[in-house]
Amino acid sequence: MHVWKHAKKDKYKPYAIYSDDFANERQTRLKIIGSVHSAIENGEIEAFMQPKFSMKTMEVVGAEALSRWRNPDGSYKFPGQFIPLLEDVGYIIDVDFCIFEQVLCVMAKWKESGKKMIPVSVNFSRQHINHDDFVTRIKKLTAKYGVEPKYIEIEITESAFMKKPEKMMKFMRELREEGYKIDIDDFGTGYSSLNMLLDVPVDIVKIDKSFIDDYDTQTKREYINQIGNLIHTARKDIIFEGVETYDQIKFLTECGYENAQGYVFSKPIPMKEFEEKYIYI
Ligand code: C2E
Ligand code: CA
Ligand code: CA
Repeated sequence: MHVWKHAKKDKYKPYAIYSDDFANERQTRLKIIGSVHSAIENGEIEAFMQPKFSMKTMEVVGAEALSRWRNPDGSYKFPGQFIPLLEDVGYIIDVDFCIFEQVLCVMAKWKESGKKMIPVSVNFSRQHINHDDFVTRIKKLTAKYGVEPKYIEIEITESAFMKKPEKMMKFMRELREEGYKIDIDDFGTGYSSLNMLLDVPVDIVKIDKSFIDDYDTQTKREYINQIGNLIHTARKDIIFEGVETYDQIKFLTECGYENAQGYVFSKPIPMKEFEEKYIYI
């Protein structure tokens, strides 16, 4: 407060504003970091679901779970506001498992009520490479809920395979052996070598939104086609994310692609709404 008063009357104002903002930001960060574990316990970290569609049949072929942090007034914090902070301090591990458990819980319910099972993907941070029990934890939780691993997709960002990828590769190999599917997320943003596609133990490549944001030149079209051919040659499935327009759907289907996810179909929605719309129909 003292700094601010002082600043108002002289040239130090810009500095003072910065220091005020900085202090506020620091406080917000500390508050988020300090309250995440109670938020998990109180059920404030919720799994929202975004459906994945076949552009051929326009049917739901899967879903991705995305975390949201419910505020006391019912509004939500988005991942951008807390995931990077929690990655810095390592608490992301607990959020990822919290979302994973919510997903397993609903999938067990679908199974019990004889509903059609669709695969659901869950995001896992690269921070998990620091925990040797990662694979065991996943397997134990899956067994606890009696869900078949073939319905579970583990999403790992492309960049997690770039620096010191051996550990991540090992984990993914082990999970695949157990029947889980592995998705490489944000493909095309990490500037990794295309050769990596042949090496990584991955089933599905999620092509980042930036690829199709401005596809509308001949070069870009050919590029998207070539990348697709390459991924198919490496025997991996493809899904496009961030599809927002019918024009994009038209373009992608003309190129022969089938699966997509994006606002044109649906935004991520609360679990209950997802079940009403796509499972209990
Ligand atoms: P992501 O895994 O790449 O997820 C896709 C993001 O794009 C989501 O943002 C989704 O809401 C948004 N999106 C989907 N379709 C469209 C579209 O058509 N247009 C646009 N503009 N955006 C679209 P969200 O939910 O804010 O999540 C942001 C990122 O936070 C995720 O990116 C993921 O990296 C991370 N994240 C979210 N939940 C978790 C989690 O439980 N664990 C971890 N480790 N990371 C998470
Ligand atoms: Ca993802
Ligand atoms: Ca992505």
